[in-house]
Amino acid sequence: MNSKLRGKTALVTGSSRGVGRATARGLAREGALVAVHYGGDEQAAQETVDLIEKDGGRAFAVGAELGTPGAVDQLFHRLEAGLREHTDDTVLDILVNNAAATFAGDAPEEVSTEQLDKIFEVNAKAPFLILQRALGLIPERGRIINISSAVTRIAMPPQVVYAMSKGALDQLTLHFARHLAPRGITVNSVLPGATDNGSVAFQMPEIREPMSQLSAFKRLGEPADVADVVVFLATDQARWVTGSSLDATGGSLLG
Ligand code: NAP
Repeated sequence: MNSKLRGKTALVTGSSRGVGRATARGLAREGALVAVHYGGDEQAAQETVDLIEKDGGRAFAVGAELGTPGAVDQLFHRLEAGLREHTDDTVLDILVNNAAATFAGDAPEEVSTEQLDKIFEVNAKAPFLILQRALGLIPERGRIINISSAVTRIAMPPQVVYAMSKGALDQLTLHFARHLAPRGITVNSVLPGATDNGSVAFQMPEIREPMSQLSAFKRLGEPADVADVVVFLATDQARWVTGSSLDATGGSLLG
């Protein structure tokens, strides 16, 4: 266990698996108490909590399916109860907006209004509402980190809706960085490239191989490759970084 975040509290949305889980583990390893948020997979979230506790850290799970009515209220009700139980307070030092709905990648002509609404509800509207709600809990020198995507920087027509939603998330970073600077709160985006989140698709050679070639290092990113960048932004070492978009793509955008 390290101690860069000792005494801090964090919420990582969508930390039942993938990058979110690695981020929750990384923050906890530095001493933070972590609220492990999940949408539908309570068991996976509990596995994240168990892994953190096995590492000697502290965590609790909070469920709320973003994009459904009342989800943000439910999330904060459970978050505040968990924080109170573990700290006798409701201070939230670090918010990581990581949960996202991905998109099958239909031709742009085929995208339905329902798909458009779902992606924007989960990837853009929910992070805004979570950030807005968290502002009452985040103290001076708090940290907000939004997990965006490299597809905001390159043209991938089948991913246009997902990319639009992540572009909206980057606007959240830009404008809230200015808005919250007087409180010493930093707001940044992290842009992962293709990252092996354990999903079936990434284990298929016909997908894994070409995706690996995107990075300058000719491999897929691991969740920890991205999580380490997020943990850095959460620490005091990153106090002079705000409103920025950190590339965590392993050089996938070098051209
Ligand atoms: P992932 O493995 O697909 O996990 C997504 C997480 O978000 C899960 O914990 C899931 O929880 C949660 N989630 C999804 N929809 C939700 C909803 N409606 N309500 C509540 N929680 C929900 O994700 P990942 O690949 O690690 O990606 C993490 C972040 O990095 C995302 O923001 C993603 O857009 C971004 N990113 C990923 C890649 C990549 O190649 N993996 C590339 C660029 C950017 P449940 O399972 O419990 O529902």
